[in-house]
Amino acid sequence: MHKKFVLFILLGCAIAIWFAAEWLRENSHAQVQVQMSKTDKDEWFVAYGFDESVTRVTFVRNPDHSRLERWQAIDTDFYIGVDSETNEEYIARIDGLAFNSVAFQLEPTYVTLRKDYAPFSPFSDGGMSWFTGRFKVCPQSCASALRFSYDFSMEAPLSDFVRLPEQSERGQLEWQESASDGHVVYVGPQAPGPTAEHGFETIIDPILPTSLKQRLLRDVPPLTAFFNQRMPHLEERPMLLASFSPTDDGRYGYQGGVIGNQMVLHWYGHSMAERITAPYFIEDTLWFVAHEFAHLYQSGQFNNESAWIHEGAAEFMALEYLRSIHANSIYLAHRVRKAQEQCANSNDKFELHYACGLLWAAAIDEQIKREYPHGLFFLWYMYVREMAEQSFPEPVDLYFELMTQLTSESFVQEMRETIAQRFNQLPDETASPL
Ligand SMILES: [Zn+2]
Repeated sequence: MHKKFVLFILLGCAIAIWFAAEWLRENSHAQVQVQMSKTDKDEWFVAYGFDESVTRVTFVRNPDHSRLERWQAIDTDFYIGVDSETNEEYIARIDGLAFNSVAFQLEPTYVTLRKDYAPFSPFSDGGMSWFTGRFKVCPQSCASALRFSYDFSMEAPLSDFVRLPEQSERGQLEWQESASDGHVVYVGPQAPGPTAEHGFETIIDPILPTSLKQRLLRDVPPLTAFFNQRMPHLEERPMLLASFSPTDDGRYGYQGGVIGNQMVLHWYGHSMAERITAPYFIEDTLWFVAHEFAHLYQSGQFNNESAWIHEGAAEFMALEYLRSIHANSIYLAHRVRKAQEQCANSNDKFELHYACGLLWAAAIDEQIKREYPHGLFFLWYMYVREMAEQSFPEPVDLYFELMTQLTSESFVQEMRETIAQRFNQLPDETASPL
């Protein structure tokens, strides 16, 4: 009788714990609806919906404060502000009351955001790609312990395809995302084609000069082969988006990015015809594409504080690829010299990650090659594999640990000191990026 009673109590406790866990699970999770729409007049809107009312919503990504100018609240009772402590942009009502929904009209033009992906990349045929991460918000604050998930939807005129990797619908698409970086969504006239031989799903702006388009498509197979020989293979079919938008204020350049298995290449300037006549345009393009390819194979192993690890490695891998196809040696020497100059003289931390990063990657490569012919690629092969198997709280430590296995403790120690010293020379630097 006594035993039965104990069992009964234990059972009661188990049920209570189960209910408490379920309650916590329900209440530690917040769902946000993000509805993006494009009208047939090419106006863009975003509307948010929240299950519980909020007095403020905070943006997940805050590279600058450009939403203040580029987002117009549909209902003038709302505004976008900047938190004086965290420097993050947020949405609130002027009267401070709670709300369940809010909507904005957007400015769908290309802007470069420092250290972040462009929100919109227009295509010259009326298409557009946009980055979902730009639109993620947290009810109240992103610092809360809640887990956030996002129900995205995109509405567009029926003439448009809405495309994500392996997903495509005419005029409308719905998908879910976690709090991770995000996706690039294509909205425009380009229908998904048959799978290309090289395995990439490609969305290429028709205005890009034929020579560049052909070059891009021609370079994908050898680039894929080059990286497949040296790095763990990609798990999913990648998507390549290449676009161009004209500018009338003299700005020109290109920017790329890799988000998950999507590679985005965007050129901007007065006209593409003008851009393509610039000296070393082909070499610059190849370097740029090879750099982004490296990121694709690095499979998201990025840490912004120690960006020299992946940016420097991507620069070095681009250099190695161009060497392997015997690209113009004067151009390659010039790129290395420019990195040396910038690494020696620049006070811009961002620039150091690329310039010094390339030189440090080359030094690490040389050391590893004493025993392993694939050099830095082999270190990255191990790094990507280990990171895919389990998550490490300090990926930088893992990187150095693997480097020690392939070189020596004294070499790694020396590298660590060189790197710390260079960043500590920066005028406003307080913390070493190691
Ligand atoms: Zn990069």
